[in-house]
Amino acid sequence: QRFSTAAVAEEPISPPVQVNYTQLLIDGKFVDSASGKTFPTLDPRTGELIAHVAEGDAEDINRAVHAARKAFDEGPWPKMTAYERSRILLRFADLIEKHNDEIAALETWDNGKPYAQAAQIEVPMVARLMRYYAGWADKIHGLVVPADGPHHVQVLHEPIGVAGQIIPWNFPLLMFAWKVGPALACGNTVVLKTAEQTPLSALFASKLLHEAGLPDGVVNVVSGFGPTAGAALASHMDVDKIAFTGSTDTGKVVLELAARSNLKSVTLELGGKSPFIIMDDADVDHAVELAHFALFFNQGQCCCAGSRTFVHERIYDEFVEKAKARALKRVVGDPFKNGVEQGPQIDDEQFNKILRYIKYGVDSGANLVTGGDRLGDKGYYIQPTIFSDVQDNMRIAQEEIFGPVQSILKFNDLNEVIKRANASQYGLAAGVFTNNLNTANTLTRALRVGTVWVNCFDVFDAAIPFGGYKQSGIGREKGIDSLKNYLQVKAVVTPIKNA
Ligand code: ADP
Repeated sequence: QRFSTAAVAEEPISPPVQVNYTQLLIDGKFVDSASGKTFPTLDPRTGELIAHVAEGDAEDINRAVHAARKAFDEGPWPKMTAYERSRILLRFADLIEKHNDEIAALETWDNGKPYAQAAQIEVPMVARLMRYYAGWADKIHGLVVPADGPHHVQVLHEPIGVAGQIIPWNFPLLMFAWKVGPALACGNTVVLKTAEQTPLSALFASKLLHEAGLPDGVVNVVSGFGPTAGAALASHMDVDKIAFTGSTDTGKVVLELAARSNLKSVTLELGGKSPFIIMDDADVDHAVELAHFALFFNQGQCCCAGSRTFVHERIYDEFVEKAKARALKRVVGDPFKNGVEQGPQIDDEQFNKILRYIKYGVDSGANLVTGGDRLGDKGYYIQPTIFSDVQDNMRIAQEEIFGPVQSILKFNDLNEVIKRANASQYGLAAGVFTNNLNTANTLTRALRVGTVWVNCFDVFDAAIPFGGYKQSGIGREKGIDSLKNYLQVKAVVTPIKNA
C-alpha cells in the first residue's frame, strides 16, 4: 500500500484572509522595529513567503517593557476595577467569535494546521478561555487570617507587575490566550514574544483586544527571534515574571537568564514523551483510534503527544496491524482542503529533524511498519509513520520527535509498564486505556505526570490545569492554578487596640 501524494501535489488553496498586521504592537500602536529590520514568515505548504514581519530585538523589547511598566505603574490599568477588566476580556471573547473564520485562516496559513481544527476547536477555545478568566477577574481575593496575638492580619493578592511571555509555534493563538488571559485577569501588564515561525495570529488578536477596550501599553506584542528578543525579555531587569512555553533546553536557558538578571519568577511548560498505555482488556479498535489521535493530532506537534504507545503483548500484533491501516487512511494534504486531517510540518528545520529521527529509528533496529518519508516534493509534508518493536533505550523512545511518528512498544505486566512509563526525563501527560477501574486507579496514581487522560486523550478546557512534572516544566497553566503565576502575596499586619 502507498500513500497518495495527490492531495499535496495540487496547487495550494488560496487562504480566505489577508495579512493586515505585520508590525510590532507597542503601547497600543503598530510600529516598525527600531532597527527597521523584518523577517519573512513562510507558508509551510510551499515554503514560500506569506509576509515580511517587523523583527523586534533587545531595543524593541526595551520599548515594550517601558510601555508595560508605565501602564502598570501609572496608566488607566491599575485604576480600573476588576469588573472593568473582566468586561474587557468578555468583549474580547465576543470579538474573537465574530472574527472566528478570519483568525482561523490566518492560523492555518502561518502554521499549516487543518483549517477545521483551527476554526472549530482552537479559536472557540480562545473565546471560552477568555470568558473563564473574565469570570475570575473579580473573584480574586485574599484572606483575613486568625494569627496568634492582638493583630488584624490580612493577606492581599496583588498582580505581580510586568509579565514577560514567550510562546511557541505549534498552537500560536491558544498559547497567546493561555498566557494573556490569566495575566490580565489578575491585573498585570504583558510583553509577549511570539515564535518566529508564527507571528500573525497574535498580532490580529491583540488588535482585537484593543478594540475591546484594553488601554494602551497593557499588552505589547513583539515578533522576533529567541536568542535576541526572547533572551532580552527573559533577562530584562524591569520584567517581574516570565512565562515560557517551548523546548526543555530553551526553558533551562530562560530560567538561567531570569536567575542571573533580577530573579523574576518563572513558569515553564516544556517538552514531553508521554506514554499511552493500552491494557489487554481494551477494545482494540477504539484504542487504535485514540492512540492514533494522541500522536498524530496537530501533525504530531504537541508537547503532550502520546509518543510512546505501550501495548499489552496479548493484543500487540492485532494493534500494530490496525494502527498501520489507520495511518494509511490518514488524509494528508492542503490544510485548507475539507476533510484533510494532517497538514505540513511547521518548517524545514522541524521537517528535517523528524526525517532524521525516522532514520535513527531504522538504524537502531525498530521495525518501520509504514511511512518513513516525505510526502510530495513541495512543502513540509511527512507520511504518517509507525515503528513497532521499539525498545526503551532507542532515541525514538526517549527524545521528543514532534512529528507524525508513532512508536509502539510491547509490555506484559502492569508494574513493568509503570516503571517503564516513568523512566523518562519528562512528566507532562499520559494516556491510560482500560475498562478495569482498579487498573485505571493504580496507573493514575503511579504515573508521575501532570495530566492523566483515562480512556480519552487531549481533552483540554480552560478550567483544567495543565503542566509538567520533572523536566516538563514548572507551574500550571489554565484553571485556578494559573492565577498563582500572576499574583504576589502581601501580608498586612495591624495591631488591634482597645479604644
Ligand atoms: P522550538 O525548538 O520548537 O522552536 P524553542 O523552545 O526554541 O522551541 O522555542 C520556543 C520559543 O522560545 C520561541 O518563541 C523562541 O523564539 C523562543 N526562544 C528560543 N531561544 C530562546 C532564548 N535563548 N531565549 C529566550 N527565548 C528563546
